[in-house]
Amino acid sequence: MLTALYIHIPFCDKVCTYCDFHKEIASLNKQEKYIISLIKELELHKNEYQDLLTVYIGGGTPSSLPINLLRDLFECITSLIDVSALKEFTIETNPNDITIEVAQLFKEYRINRVSIGVQTFNETHLLFLGRTHSKKDVLTAIDNLLKCDINNISVDMIFSLINQTLEELNEDINLVVNLPIKHISYYSLILEEKTKLHYLFDQNKISMNTEDLEAIMYNRVIDKLVENGFYHYEISNFSKPGYESKHNLIYWQNKQYLGLGSGSHSLYKGKRFSNIRNVRKYSEGFSKDGYSQKEEYEVEPLREELIMGLRLMNGINITHINNKYNIDLLNMYPEINDFVSQKLLKLENDQLCFTREGLMLGNIVFSVF
Ligand code: SF4
Repeated sequence: MLTALYIHIPFCDKVCTYCDFHKEIASLNKQEKYIISLIKELELHKNEYQDLLTVYIGGGTPSSLPINLLRDLFECITSLIDVSALKEFTIETNPNDITIEVAQLFKEYRINRVSIGVQTFNETHLLFLGRTHSKKDVLTAIDNLLKCDINNISVDMIFSLINQTLEELNEDINLVVNLPIKHISYYSLILEEKTKLHYLFDQNKISMNTEDLEAIMYNRVIDKLVENGFYHYEISNFSKPGYESKHNLIYWQNKQYLGLGSGSHSLYKGKRFSNIRNVRKYSEGFSKDGYSQKEEYEVEPLREELIMGLRLMNGINITHINNKYNIDLLNMYPEINDFVSQKLLKLENDQLCFTREGLMLGNIVFSVF
């Protein structure tokens, strides 16, 4: 049963220094061709949407599309999918894209959750990250959404920025917890290959924070968000009660989803596959053959389920895993008991999950699977 649909928009107005997502700055013509192809791909699957619970339009920056292309896309989605039956219909945005017209458009097409890329409120860090918005843009964006009665708002934040002090982190946290929002994703800055950040690092122009400082900052984020009423439900995600990301929970619970658009991934009908990660080739596929070639790939299902499941704060159920895979997990991975003794993992009532200390050393645990 297909309950989650992901739609990828691989365009941004500007490329951020740290970002390795599939995105590009494209001409209007290229964006138009892409949306035409995406609509064709949406139509190809029109008989598979009847059980959908969540639709997530991500990127890139979907809100960077011109308003007429956004409207074309939303028109197609609402003609094929009963959006009134969706539990969650999310779009990713940049703060400076959310004008009152755009917020009204979201409302008109029943988008009920908006995720905003904020990252930090600090002007110097925003500039270094290559972001194009200011703190004021964030406040205006949220205000515009609330005026249109869209109150399920999530923001993405980053900690452990280059040269970020604990005081600066505190300022960010104090601002974000006081926003009228329901959800916060708070990730540490990662040095990704083929980014400007990596180039600067290789040139010895910047240095990343030490693991110790990163751990202090991560603990600070968790403590402050929880203190302020945000429930910590996934390694990097926090929500007001009942506002967990329903779409992302489907990924973390290793359930089926279909991805559409260039570079999107799917877990569907027992297979994992991806669309070609090239906007031009993706669009050409639809104009030449009427479809885009999908590439199948293998993952080890048990490994995937353990790693995804342990990302959730309530972890995995041992009996469920044992029955599903016909294994004895604790026998198969005796290291789990070692991690429990070292207080990195906690095993209670058949439920295995990270301790606070273990969260800081997640990679050591994951490397065993
Ligand atoms: S706006 Fe988002 S997707 Fe685009 S470059 Fe920046 S971080 Fe990456």
